[in-house]
Amino acid sequence: MRKTGKAMIFDEPGKPLRPAEFALPTLEAGEALVRVTCSTLCGSDVGTFFGRRTAPTPTILGHEIIGHIEWLAQVAPPRDWRGKALAVGDRVTWTVAANCEICFYCKNGLPQKCESLFKYGHQRVSHSHPFSGGLAEYCHLAPGTAILKVADALPDEIACPVNCATATVAAGFRLAGLSVAGASVLVIGAGMLGLMATAMARSGGAREVIVCDVQADRLEQARRFGATQVFRVGEASEVLEGIIAEATDGRGVDLAMDLTGVADAMELSLAQLRIGGVCIWIGAVHPARPIALNAETVVRRMTKIVGVHNYAPEDLATALAFTEAHAEAFPFAELVSQSFPLEQANEAFAAAHTSGAYRVAVKP
Ligand SMILES: [Zn+2]
Ligand SMILES: [Zn+2]
Repeated sequence: MRKTGKAMIFDEPGKPLRPAEFALPTLEAGEALVRVTCSTLCGSDVGTFFGRRTAPTPTILGHEIIGHIEWLAQVAPPRDWRGKALAVGDRVTWTVAANCEICFYCKNGLPQKCESLFKYGHQRVSHSHPFSGGLAEYCHLAPGTAILKVADALPDEIACPVNCATATVAAGFRLAGLSVAGASVLVIGAGMLGLMATAMARSGGAREVIVCDVQADRLEQARRFGATQVFRVGEASEVLEGIIAEATDGRGVDLAMDLTGVADAMELSLAQLRIGGVCIWIGAVHPARPIALNAETVVRRMTKIVGVHNYAPEDLATALAFTEAHAEAFPFAELVSQSFPLEQANEAFAAAHTSGAYRVAVKP
């Protein structure tokens, strides 16, 4: 068995990732070591690399990871989160963060807000736990990580984004607290999360899925992921109002999901809701201007607004089951445009930045 593994280290924006090699860890109880086969670069990775968001450094970026279990130190018999037997060699995905399971937030249904969260791709590289991100040959899974076996038939490129984009969207639908079957859904932003939201809503039986974006090509892609109507932001807003009025008998949509974090978009999501409708805000993870909100309107129209940040293990299970069941129904594979070997991770970031691709892959 190998004794060391390679990684690409991020020190600061504007500086290329540097190669490094670390000794493979000796596992503690509840841990696992995964041999990484693929990582896709999430928008947050690209944002950190180019200095649009901060991260503790030095770090190993990448959290949309897939790989095979190389070594397990779990109580026998090991099981994945869905209860399936887990063994060395199994292909797995896992939650973007490990949580302690005993703190206030873990006990109150918010494991993603654990007081001692260990977040893959966001940890400072430490001597005791260097392999914490996807841009490496190995990833060292901490106790409290929900691991899920992945069907062999699901290609790496499709499986990678499940534990970030798709699981976050699954959390949004769960927390909306209404069934999408027969519902009208407004999806704002047709990036990776928006496409997953569109596909999940449609496959869940939504009657109408109306997708908004500034880019016409992204709206075309949204149609292929199940959008029944699209609206290019920049067109007259009356056009969107007309589409929604016609699609909902003038009531407004049952559910609006914002994946952009743009204040104008969140105001739009509120304005297009029916009485008793639900707004799910996911995109607002960057500073932006405060939005205009009329409290009387919220009260009289009985609007429900839910902020969703990251997700719980059950959402990853939902996302994976959805992706496994619909891998053929939607063109997921097209969303990963290029792949690079680990040593060329810098080129992968450049490609992610310039190509406008939904995802770029790095394969150790
Ligand atoms: Zn992500
Ligand atoms: Zn906790």
